[in-house]
Amino acid sequence: MTLSLGSVSVDLDPLRCYYQIHGLGAAPDQLAEVVLQRALPRFLDVFARFGLRATLFVVGSDALDGSVGRPLLRQAAQLGHELGNHSFGHPYELSRLSESAIVDELRACEQVLDELRGQPGKVCGFRAPGYELSPALLRALSQLGFRYDSSVFPCPPYYLAKLLVLAKLRLSGRQSASIIGSPWQQLAPMQPYRPALDNPNRTGSAPLIELPVAVTKYLRLPAIGTSLLLSAPLRHVLLAAMLRQPFFNLELHGIDLIDAQLDGIPSELVARQPDLQVPLWQKQKALVEILRFLTDHAQVLPLAEVAMHFAQTGL
Ligand SMILES: [Zn+2]
Repeated sequence: MTLSLGSVSVDLDPLRCYYQIHGLGAAPDQLAEVVLQRALPRFLDVFARFGLRATLFVVGSDALDGSVGRPLLRQAAQLGHELGNHSFGHPYELSRLSESAIVDELRACEQVLDELRGQPGKVCGFRAPGYELSPALLRALSQLGFRYDSSVFPCPPYYLAKLLVLAKLRLSGRQSASIIGSPWQQLAPMQPYRPALDNPNRTGSAPLIELPVAVTKYLRLPAIGTSLLLSAPLRHVLLAAMLRQPFFNLELHGIDLIDAQLDGIPSELVARQPDLQVPLWQKQKALVEILRFLTDHAQVLPLAEVAMHFAQTGL
């Protein structure tokens, strides 16, 4: 099977999430809206250039009335981009909360998205903070009528890197908000599947479809913004390998189009986040190359339409 279908999604994590991951304490107030204010318009510009409709995974608490991001996200929805649920407060431990606490998180975000989409009750897709899915979270999504989940990232190299980073942080006496989930997720299917309700990493008969984040065939290397934007040689290897996967679920993060200098990012965060050490123009140039590759080889659709396509083909 060769590449024929693609999607582009952006997790709009605010910068406070990166402060939490690196155990840096609370983020300065002036950084609260930087991702939505600065990076989101840059993404919308490049998507318009390619005429593609993307999926934007929104943290609900960032898009409340009066926020800078709210009108931008509403505009994105009007342009045909899909607004997906990335929880209300982006708790990294979401998958470990009680089922009722999970439902509250999902509902609170969905309420904000309802207002932004202008289509009340159109519950559709979800991505978990930190890619961590659990049976309780999958059950909550099913119960609320979600059509797809896109949280599984079956990538052993990423998992090992995360273990190392967290171990290093612990040795230095700092505490990360990030959690380590089931190692079995690393062996989950790499292409869309219907998960089992009691085990999201296996195939089964859940009412929703799982759309895993892209990894290459065999080695399961990460084909996400973080790895694709960093170095040209690595990008070329990863993109060439993705030609062997029928569906390329390209995941990006809001921070991918942030410039440390232009956007006033404090050096304490820049020092720990390698993608912030690359200038914006370089990342924009790389993103154009990636999107050109994707649109040249695949039909690119928002994830909701990808899920519908797989549901219709009998998955
Ligand atoms: Zn996130």
